[in-house]
Amino acid sequence: MRGLGGFEYDTSDTPALPVIKQIILREARAHGLRAFDLTSKSRKQEIVRARRIAMRSCKRETTATLAEIGTAFNRGHSVVSIALAGGWQPKQTCPKCLGRMEKIEGAYHCNRCGVTVARKTGD
Ligand SMILES: [Zn+2]
Repeated sequence: MRGLGGFEYDTSDTPALPVIKQIILREARAHGLRAFDLTSKSRKQEIVRARRIAMRSCKRETTATLAEIGTAFNRGHSVVSIALAGGWQPKQTCPKCLGRMEKIEGAYHCNRCGVTVARKTGD
């Protein structure tokens, strides 16, 4: 996989894949979902959350690269890195004055100009 420049590789060449599949199954069950839900394109919040936890577990419990984990979830590695970073969040830079924003309950708040940007719940 890496010998091919990191782009083209076969999933059968990913030693961690069986473990990743076990983790997906385990996390799906833990959340009352099916493994299929976690690898689907669904954006339902409970699925997105379970998927994110499963991706983190894969990173923690295997030596798989982000690209390999992404493949197991039918996703690109950038999606995995976002999930590992705690999900998508607005930039912590104020969109109005470019000042630094403070993390408050459910949002980011700019003390300089007073702008508040909602954060996604669960993060
Ligand atoms: Zn501001």
